[in-house]
Amino acid sequence: MIEIEAALQLIADTARQLAAESLPLSDVAGHVLAADITSDVDSPPFDKAMMDGFGVRSEDFAAGIRQFPVVAQITAGTSFDETVQPGEAVQIMTGAPVPSGIDAVVMVEQTSQAISGGDAVVTMEAARCLPGQNILKRATAMSVGETILPTGRVIRSEDIGVLAEAGAATCPVIRKPTLAVLATGDELVDVSSRPAANQIRNSNGPMLASLARELCSNVADLGIGVDDREQLAALVQRGLSYDVLVLSGGVSAGTRDMVPAVLQELGVEQVFHKVKIKPGKPIWFGTRTGPGTVNSWVFGLPGNPVSSMVCFHVFVAPLLLRLAGCDPQQRQLSAQLARDHSQRPGRTTYWPSRLEWTDDQWLVEPLDWKGSADLKTLAAANCFVVFDGARDTFRTGDAVPVFCMDNG
Ligand code: AMP
Ligand code: MG
Repeated sequence: MIEIEAALQLIADTARQLAAESLPLSDVAGHVLAADITSDVDSPPFDKAMMDGFGVRSEDFAAGIRQFPVVAQITAGTSFDETVQPGEAVQIMTGAPVPSGIDAVVMVEQTSQAISGGDAVVTMEAARCLPGQNILKRATAMSVGETILPTGRVIRSEDIGVLAEAGAATCPVIRKPTLAVLATGDELVDVSSRPAANQIRNSNGPMLASLARELCSNVADLGIGVDDREQLAALVQRGLSYDVLVLSGGVSAGTRDMVPAVLQELGVEQVFHKVKIKPGKPIWFGTRTGPGTVNSWVFGLPGNPVSSMVCFHVFVAPLLLRLAGCDPQQRQLSAQLARDHSQRPGRTTYWPSRLEWTDDQWLVEPLDWKGSADLKTLAAANCFVVFDGARDTFRTGDAVPVFCMDNG
């Protein structure tokens, strides 16, 4: 049995970044960029009006002129290609190009308009009119050829706007892994069935598939495998065509626990079996090597659903992130314990808990959890307190590490 840190290191040692692919802009959020993205336009592409109003020469205003004939109306998407002369104004809308001769825009609310002798005239009521006012100069935000997002950056939804502006209709990104989930156990039936005596529904398959979807490009739920070597081997073989195969059940010491043997028969080499973690001790991890490199990563997670979930968060998610080119971020923070807690010392324990920001600090309450088969309590949890296996008593107010559930 190995420590959690040692297991994480062994998993990381097998990981490599998957190949790059080109994806349409609509699909790239959450991916890592495989090349710098440069802009093919200046932003803004011209000196741009930032207000609806009237463009004038600020030196006219400084010289005391307040009434101007309006020589053009410029709306967004159009332009006025002549030079505006001293003493003249143009009406201009937000987003329209500022014509030559104009160096300030006075907002419409600080003007009044009239018709004089059939011509439009604007009167400035503004107190000030300074050079450059309400104009964004060409290329202020970015220039043609400038790198807007560098290689290695995780693309956020917030980045999609600037990528669109820069003309990145497709982006080179690191491929996210594909993943198959296979739940094993003679006692399992599908969620759509009513379990007969001695049976339970397959909770892990849908749960693991859903967790994996946040980090993978394609997730296949292979359903339920019975505890039979031959039938299991056929399903595992299918699962090995994905980058990552996650099994649940069949990795403990029971007479029907045949997952490790089936995996090894199919050429998956064991990297470790059993980790000092609670819940999740029986976890199995191995890899299958194709021509020169690992091409399948396989986890055998313990069947108890909370064990499966904890193992997914702690061990599987960091591998999925590494394959996709991300650096797994530290997901722990420190919080104050909201009540006393005691445990049998031994393994590091991930305890379903509720974290709240209260009175300017993180306060965490361990829930009344009934053990690794109790999924219902987990629905009320938003984190796990990570209780040190060396201690048996924890007091209200103690600072404890908290593992957050989301992958952010
Ligand atoms: P195992 O790891 O196969 O020994 O299973 C441990 C416990 O988890 C047993 O009580 C199983 O019935 C239960 N279990 C196994 N697989 C699942 C599953 N997919 N969904 C819910 N419970 C499961
Ligand atoms: Mg089983």
